[in-house]
Amino acid sequence: MIIQLNQDISNTQKAALMDQINHMGYKVTEVKTQVGDYLIGIGKAAIDIRKIGLLNGIQDIHIVSDEYKLVSKKWKVKPTRIDLGDGIGIEDGEMAIITGPCSIESEEQIAKVIGHMKENQISLMRGGVFKPRSSPYAFRGLGMEGLKIWYQQAREAGIKIVTEVMQVSQIEEMHDYIDVFQVGARNTQNFNLLDELGKVDKAVMIKRGISGTIEELLQSAEYVFSGGNEKLILCERGIRTYEKASRNTLDLNAVPILKAKSHLPVVVDPSHGIGIREFVPQMALAGVMAGADGIIYESHENPDKAYSDGQQTLNFAQSALLADQIRKTFALRKTFDLL
Ligand code: PEP
Ligand code: MN
Repeated sequence: MIIQLNQDISNTQKAALMDQINHMGYKVTEVKTQVGDYLIGIGKAAIDIRKIGLLNGIQDIHIVSDEYKLVSKKWKVKPTRIDLGDGIGIEDGEMAIITGPCSIESEEQIAKVIGHMKENQISLMRGGVFKPRSSPYAFRGLGMEGLKIWYQQAREAGIKIVTEVMQVSQIEEMHDYIDVFQVGARNTQNFNLLDELGKVDKAVMIKRGISGTIEELLQSAEYVFSGGNEKLILCERGIRTYEKASRNTLDLNAVPILKAKSHLPVVVDPSHGIGIREFVPQMALAGVMAGADGIIYESHENPDKAYSDGQQTLNFAQSALLADQIRKTFALRKTFDLL
């Protein structure tokens, strides 16, 4: 059960309300976000919601029986727009294109990627400065120094930054230099990290866990939302299956399912999803047709020289072509009535 409270509810009214819900056999948690104030009731008893709905201080009441609640479409039917400022956003009905290298490597590299993006009217740039690598001997990112250089160039160019935060201690130092915190697939269930991201006033993109279910992804998003931050984006990036012919199995089923279950925007990552450069474009376009609100893919001036994930990274010519095809495919999708 989700109870949306009036902004002007008094403490006495709230206490009475919580008491009433407790008496019905429900455990109540108060959630305050940057947008609203909610009471989440967890319980199994059959209840007559009119008994609560008539109490003072309530805006609305909804029964949401799923494990995730605030990210559910069952109470918030209108899709959530993630506003990144300067007219840039990620939302249902639009197509966000996010590109850039797997890893931020140097000042020159950043300048080249930004040049490529400007030429192709792309305003969201991805790149890792803290890299989760399977081997401790692999390149692990330029850290804050790299992020600051990137920030400088991105701001001048009017480009927004999407980058991975790997641990709680990095949130504060990264905060002023980023636009979207990315939670990587290896951290989707790092609940301490998710709790802390609930406290920040920045968008958070959560990638699906390597072996994570759709429901687990939604529950991870619920952590951030219930921690106070409603600015959430979900990302399907492929899951580990028994299939060895591709790096991961991009689960495009997840796209319409997530869109149906949640009001949050959904982004597809075909680069990590298939992990094979020459097949990234087809999977990106399939993601568009599946209903994604955005595509995030890796690009680099010279993918074979990239410090990480070169095998799945597009060069600028391929990226320019793909960006154009994404837009055309999206225009085609809009002519269908899919969802
Ligand atoms: C990345 O985006 O470069 C990355 C490491 O992604 P994931 O967490 O999906 O593996
Ligand atoms: Mn990568």
